[in-house]
Amino acid sequence: MSQLPTFRYHPDPVATENMVKLKKPVVCACCGQPTSVIYRGPFYCVGPQPVLCPHCIASGAAAQKFDGCFQDETNVEAGVEDCDKLDELIHRTPGYSGWQQEFWRTHCHDFCAFLGYVGAEELKEMGILDEVLDDPRWDDYEKEVIATCVNGGSAQCYLFRCLHCGKHFVWFDYD
Ligand SMILES: [Zn+2]
Ligand SMILES: [Zn+2]
Repeated sequence: MSQLPTFRYHPDPVATENMVKLKKPVVCACCGQPTSVIYRGPFYCVGPQPVLCPHCIASGAAAQKFDGCFQDETNVEAGVEDCDKLDELIHRTPGYSGWQQEFWRTHCHDFCAFLGYVGAEELKEMGILDEVLDDPRWDDYEKEVIATCVNGGSAQCYLFRCLHCGKHFVWFDYD
């Protein structure tokens, strides 16, 4: 139970801080097993958010048991025809926490991988600011917001990468 499962659409949820490593294990509300890594991103379900281990997210058991989802299925970019992919994204992938309703980017007929929270500075350091600005989704005003936003500030960028062509994309919102 120590090894983290693989999440195609959210490859490193510990690095993005949507999962947290604990010093003392706690019990997963889904499988009843002790876990030293718990999920702390969004989970849309009735009632208080249960303590969930990564394995119960990856298997779909948590979404099924609590009749919940990790990403709102109406807030995903169009272009994915495969229902299994949507099911994997909303029921078997850790979500991320946006200021507003989280939106999931799509490219090459598949959902992108969520890489983390960034601002213009981080995008520049990674050498991908121009790449994310080269996106028909954004008008000039929106490009200006992305090119000036500060990680953790009131305009926040969320970084994605296409699993197929490797191109980077952002989503952004305001607090
Ligand atoms: Zn579990
Ligand atoms: Zn692509």
